[in-house]
Amino acid sequence: MLNRQGRPTQGSVSAHEPHATFTGNRALQQIEPLIFEIGHPETTGVDIDAPAPFKSRLGSHARKGEIGLPGLSEPEAMRHYVRLSQKNYGIDTGLFPLGSCTMKHNARLNEKTARMPGFSDVHPLQPVSTVPGALEVMLELSHYLMTLTGMPAVALSPKAGAHGEACGMMAIKAAIAAKGEGATRNVVLVPESAHGTNPATAALIGFSVRSVPAREDGTVAVEDVKALLGPDIAAIMLTNPNTCGIFEPQIVEIAAAMHEAGAYFYCDGANFNAIVGKARPGDLGVDAMHINLHKTFSTPHGGGGPGSGPVVLSERLAPFAPVPFIHVEGGSARLVENAADAPAGNQPFGRITAFHGQMGMYVRALTYMLSHGSDGMKQASEDAVLNANYIRAGLSDLMSLPFPDHPSMHEALFDDEWLKGTGVTTLDFAKAMIDEGYHPMTVYFPLVVHGAMLIEPTESESKASLDLFIATLRDLAMAAKGNDKARFTGAPHHAPLRRLDETRAARQPVLKWVPPVPLAEAAE
Ligand SMILES: *Cc1c(COP(=O)(O)O)cnc(C)c1O
Repeated sequence: MLNRQGRPTQGSVSAHEPHATFTGNRALQQIEPLIFEIGHPETTGVDIDAPAPFKSRLGSHARKGEIGLPGLSEPEAMRHYVRLSQKNYGIDTGLFPLGSCTMKHNARLNEKTARMPGFSDVHPLQPVSTVPGALEVMLELSHYLMTLTGMPAVALSPKAGAHGEACGMMAIKAAIAAKGEGATRNVVLVPESAHGTNPATAALIGFSVRSVPAREDGTVAVEDVKALLGPDIAAIMLTNPNTCGIFEPQIVEIAAAMHEAGAYFYCDGANFNAIVGKARPGDLGVDAMHINLHKTFSTPHGGGGPGSGPVVLSERLAPFAPVPFIHVEGGSARLVENAADAPAGNQPFGRITAFHGQMGMYVRALTYMLSHGSDGMKQASEDAVLNANYIRAGLSDLMSLPFPDHPSMHEALFDDEWLKGTGVTTLDFAKAMIDEGYHPMTVYFPLVVHGAMLIEPTESESKASLDLFIATLRDLAMAAKGNDKARFTGAPHHAPLRRLDETRAARQPVLKWVPPVPLAEAAE
């Protein structure tokens, strides 16, 4: 039985569900309606005396109707939010193999340092003289980011990878304008396999986007890039290792070709976690690259974030870095808040955030770096690559690899060739993983691979954890091949709301709760 919001009502035992319960709950999996559906405006957790009569000065702005907030007792409100929080699948509850997203363990030591009052209580509007420690943290983090990438400058303030892309591309745009080529160099090359944020960033900043075709083997060929070069080309946005999990073999040649044509090389560094301590983007000819602290340096993602996407810049782009930044001269650090105060030779392109970026994430990332040391960070990259290849080796006899000739870096990419004729799709397979208690891998990305399944275990997982994951996927793969379609059709079978209409949720999201029409009115 569904109520008017389309949710199951409680007390509706269905004869068709073999183990249906009266409440609709399944032990600790409890149905949680919206707070508006469980609370009533006339109920309240606190009793406040009615105010003495007073003359309102709000005039026509005074509220005319009831405020309509859901009223709940304190335990009811507490239970509602705790239950909602428990519906989250996170890296703290299980393996999270989302390819390209690098869902690493968020080390508790990072959380501990970020919560130290000296860090957590600083305010962005405090006088600079009272926060030398915060500046020191930012400088030290900058030092390690520049050292690990082999780049001479970094802009810390971007608040996500995509924001970092915007920052790096704006620096490129400013550099082109400074050379007087702003009107003519306005095309950005983006490979077909790129993350959607790359073309979106280029377009948002006013560049037009031209696609670089993907080669049969999942890499970008220098000849294909060269064929597109001309005086109108501003830059290429290339991911390395790329979104197929492959280290671009011609990256150095591509960088040289770009520079020769007077253009820039923006590297999407979301996959830097595969090569930290092994290869330096600066040595590969990169001009700008964002680093997702929430991927490579283990700070929390998304809702648990916020993210942070510092951008390292080459010598050519460094003068255009946005304010604010810290300038060190003669051993003392100065905060440059306005372009007019920038040291000679600098032409900041502007400002992209109100303040200095995500301070809490700087503390966490620096803690991660210092607790690992340079040997530890290198080992983290090696283990991430080892784990991905372990999964690849454990599944590749059952599931098909689109690019069998290239070794995988930090993620293993499968296509859906092996599902042909089974009637099971990549989406069905991913949904069946939910029944097994796993968050699915990234699916249908990169777009250049049919029915892609992109698995990134990261270095966080133990061998036992990987073995169970592989065994589970093998069991599912055998079921798909063995005609056990029931396990996939309509999966997940054990999730509270079964399979959701994700397209409708994305295209026509219901963002507002509408109060049910009172029965008396509805009858009229
Ligand atoms: C995650 C990711 C991005 C965007 O980073 P956000 O922090 O999510 O904005 C860009 N490119 C690639 C390849 C990514 O994996």
